[in-house]
Amino acid sequence: MGHASMGKIMWVDLGRGTIKIESIPDTLYQKVLSGVGLAAHLLYERIPSGADPLGPDNILGFVSGLLTGTGSLFTGRWMVTGKSPLTGGWGDANCGGNFSPAIKRCGVDGIFFTGISPRPVYLWADKGRAELRDATELWGRDTVETEEILKQQADGRGLRVACIGPAGEKQSLIAGVANDGGRMAARSGLGAVMGSKRLKAVALSGGQRIPVHDRETIKTLSQQCNEAVQFHPPFLNGIMMAYTGTLMRLLPMQMAFDGMLYKLMLDKYGTASLNQIMVEVGDTPIKNWKGSNEDFDRDRSVNLSPEIFTDTMVVKYHCYSCPLGCGGLMAKNSAWSGGHKPEYESVMALGGLLLNDDAESIYTLNDMLNRAGMDTISAGGTVAFAMECYEKGLLTRDDTGGLELTWGNSAAIVQLVEKMIRREGIGDLLADGSRAAAGRIGRQADRLAMHAGGQELGMHDGRYDPGFALHYCVEPTPGRHTIGSQMYYEMFRLWERVPELPDVSLVYTKGSKYESEDDKISAAAACSRFMNVLNGTGTCLFGAFLGVERLPLFEWLNAATGWDRSPADYMAIGERIQTLKQAFNVKHGVDPKSFKANPRTLGIPPQTAGANAGRSVAVDAMMRAYWQRFGWDPATGKPGEAVLKRWGIKTKPSD
Ligand code: SF4
Repeated sequence: MGHASMGKIMWVDLGRGTIKIESIPDTLYQKVLSGVGLAAHLLYERIPSGADPLGPDNILGFVSGLLTGTGSLFTGRWMVTGKSPLTGGWGDANCGGNFSPAIKRCGVDGIFFTGISPRPVYLWADKGRAELRDATELWGRDTVETEEILKQQADGRGLRVACIGPAGEKQSLIAGVANDGGRMAARSGLGAVMGSKRLKAVALSGGQRIPVHDRETIKTLSQQCNEAVQFHPPFLNGIMMAYTGTLMRLLPMQMAFDGMLYKLMLDKYGTASLNQIMVEVGDTPIKNWKGSNEDFDRDRSVNLSPEIFTDTMVVKYHCYSCPLGCGGLMAKNSAWSGGHKPEYESVMALGGLLLNDDAESIYTLNDMLNRAGMDTISAGGTVAFAMECYEKGLLTRDDTGGLELTWGNSAAIVQLVEKMIRREGIGDLLADGSRAAAGRIGRQADRLAMHAGGQELGMHDGRYDPGFALHYCVEPTPGRHTIGSQMYYEMFRLWERVPELPDVSLVYTKGSKYESEDDKISAAAACSRFMNVLNGTGTCLFGAFLGVERLPLFEWLNAATGWDRSPADYMAIGERIQTLKQAFNVKHGVDPKSFKANPRTLGIPPQTAGANAGRSVAVDAMMRAYWQRFGWDPATGKPGEAVLKRWGIKTKPSD
């Protein structure tokens, strides 16, 4: 066994009810790290092509990160992985909380499930034992209740639980997996895979020590990182950020974004700090992506201000090993007691996207969806689709069971989401996301579904930052806002550590953002590669926004593992992982070109009003250039045999 990894994974065959341990050689960690890289390697080789995502051949993996538990900071993220029933290709979802170290404390880096159980079960494991237990009594419970019941049974043994709610049980294709009281690994529809396997929960209570090569160096690096995090100026407030957004919109020039500023915002308000500023600048999609900041002006967006989404928070919430703590738990005396406060993505998917400025309804929806185990982004995106269908007469009051699906009708939105969670009436039509619903409605309803490859887009507008548009269309898990953008690249500051990467001008004209230059493609490819390193190590994206000078990711990696690798070496590992995920999609018959997002989201045609008026993204050329940068066929997006061989990836993985 090497350092930082546990050197083992657990396989659970739900059909046979058997559990076994597989050793992983250190050489494999050196090739793909742990976390997403380990999962991509195993699932690429072991899920047969054509496997039904909701059938017994799909493999559902829960993976920790290589740096988790080593004393490094921001490294408590875990991932659920598998073949996505939403996109048909590679699926993963990332989550914070305390589940990641719990996996390693059970002596493994990942737990992988195959087969389908004949009855509802949950996995219970500690450092020495693991068994499947009957979950009949838990089936039907929401995610928060399930976790509470299992923790009561554990009788104070520090149990950590990941579980599905009713949405996963009903195999909604936009269902996710929750831990820590409804905190969601939401994307890719992997909650449906867990439901299809009749696996209600994974409950872990290990105490195994995590091996580290050089604990003293890690400690020193972590102290330095913590000093940057502990800088707190007193002057920030929400309305000031709204006016800053207006200024940013009006100025012809843009300043490169320093992640330290975002750190300050996160520190005070969490991701809710973005609620108004991003509407003002044009980053928040409004009214199913056809509206603008003029439809959701300051008089309305102030109702969703950062203050409104922090004032009922009583407990600041930190994921494991996080010195920042951007999350918040709802007050005990609130209607949403015990749950997590809504994040920016949820506020805007259930707010601006629907022209809904009723904060109370958003708190309610967020709580309902987290308890049901349904993705707030996809749920909001699907409701927005349904509202536009209603506006255009593709859905009527007869179809909706009497609901008036008019923009901003918060009461109707709450009732519609209840129906989606229960798969009742119109809710059954919408519970699998906007692409599936459009297919059933027909009559060109797909033109109103704002997705990439079947997954609803994150709440960042590619017409404002074309980097988001590109990543929505080229990532093996499309539609994701957590991989890259021009602003992310500015904050990562990778050129400070990786010599071949382009740096960013401190000030640039806004118009230059829309030019497809080589440097922008290099930056986008670097974001994808870097995110694979982050997701292989269990590191939080928000920590990475501090920049690699303040977040010593590469230095932590060498200290934790004992390897002597350069940042460029680690970025190469990130490239191998990206190629593995793309090869997974090709193996499963996914056409990379089909991930191109709905033209409306790309400014085709351009908007005539608002912050993004006149803007469009030449994404086809960018997609080709991005694929070429990875050595894949620029016409098809497929990695050829030569590039697979270069990365040591099997060209004919077993079927
Ligand atoms: S910054 Fe926020 S999401 Fe990231 S690890 Fe810390 S608390 Fe969790």
